Order: sequence, then C-alpha cells, then structure tokens
Amino acid sequence: MIRVLVWNEYIHEKDPNNASSTVYPHGIHNAIAGFLGKEEDIEVTTATLDDENCGITDEVLKNTDVIIWWGHCGHDRVPDVVAQKVHEAVLNGMGAVFLHSAHKSKPFMRLMGTSCSLIWRESGDTERVWVSKPSHPIAAGIDTCFELEADETYGEPFGIPNPDDIVFMGWYSGGEVFRSGVTFTRDNGRIFYFQPGHETFPTFYDPNVQRVILNAVRWAKPDVRTENVMDCPNPPSRNK
Ligand code: ZN
Repeated sequence: MIRVLVWNEYIHEKDPNNASSTVYPHGIHNAIAGFLGKEEDIEVTTATLDDENCGITDEVLKNTDVIIWWGHCGHDRVPDVVAQKVHEAVLNGMGAVFLHSAHKSKPFMRLMGTSCSLIWRESGDTERVWVSKPSHPIAAGIDTCFELEADETYGEPFGIPNPDDIVFMGWYSGGEVFRSGVTFTRDNGRIFYFQPGHETFPTFYDPNVQRVILNAVRWAKPDVRTENVMDCPNPPSRNK
C-alpha cells in the first residue's frame, strides 16, 4: 500500500463568501482524498492547519510514503519546524506532490532554494495542458493535451531550479505559457509540482487532473527510506 497524506491549509473553503466553499464544500483535501481513496493500492489520510502541529509529527511523516500539499494564503501559518520536518522527510525518501499555489509553500521553497515566483492572473483563462514528455510515468494515460475550461493563469518566468523533467507545459488563452508539471529529486526524495488547481474552479474533479495526481503518487513513492540523511558519517578506513 502507498500511504498518502493530503495536506491542505483549508482556509478559503470555510469562508462562505468565497466561491471555493461551494466548489469544495468539504475542502480541497477531501476532494483529493476522495478519488485517491478509491484506488486499491492507496491508503489516504488528511491534515490541515486546524490540526495540532498542522497534523504533522515525526510519527506521521514516518508513516507517510507520499505527501500532497495545497496551500495559498496560510503559508506563513505553517511553523518553520513543520516545514523542516517535511523537508527532511523528503530528503530521506518521502515523495512530495505540490499543487498550484503550493509553489510558495515553506516546504516547497526549502526544497527548491529559489524564489519560486511566477506571474499570475485570475481572469478565467482557458488552459491547455500539453504533455511534453509522453514517456514519463506521470503522463501515462494522458492524451497529447487536455483542456481546463478555466483556471488561474500562471506564467513564466517560474523561479525554480532546472527540473529533472518537464512533463507538462501549460498554455493559456490569455497568451502565457508555464512549466505546469515538473519533477525534481532531492537526495532520496522525488518531488512533483503541478500547476492546475485554483480553489474557485472545479479542477480537482477533472479526470485528467485526477489521473496526473494519481500517477504522481505512484511515481513519487519511495524506493528507499532513510532516517539520517542529514548526518555525515565518519567511518574507519576499510583497508586496515
Ligand atoms: Zn490560485
């Protein structure tokens, strides 16, 4: 079984004046957990900012193979110590999938070490998500491209280090392009960032988006899981 933890700040969806409260009445985390939980090889739990320590402890991370992260206006409310725990868990092998505005989340920024900035616009542009690396496991079952009737526009330049792979490229009816699906490796951990998923659009109900997230979970699950990747061992010589 792949043990998945879906983490969501869960702020917008609780605000009755925010459209996301009707699009995701039970929160984005439960929308994602809902479709992942139908898979026989996946065991899914959720956590939010409302939980003590954001629902993230050493024990929780030890029992998580892949974490999925959605955040937006509450990035600063995630304590640094929690971000550090997630960061180190990834270095030790835990997979991580960062969605949409999680590009500015503390764990993602720590893992990238760059600005992670981009341009953005909420104008309901149509987005076409193009598969730029069809052989990548995260693109399995996805056609040449798929279209999202409306999502928030994100555009280049995207302040990330050079990715291992650019699996998807986004094009918007407003003219922008964006590296919408990119992978990274950090020590033993695999990381996928995926751009679709603004809170006021039903993006996480889209079958293609669901397929990409499911593929990403299976791809990111650890091959090896260490506990002390931060240590620098000092062994005796093997030749004496
Ligand atoms: Zn957004």
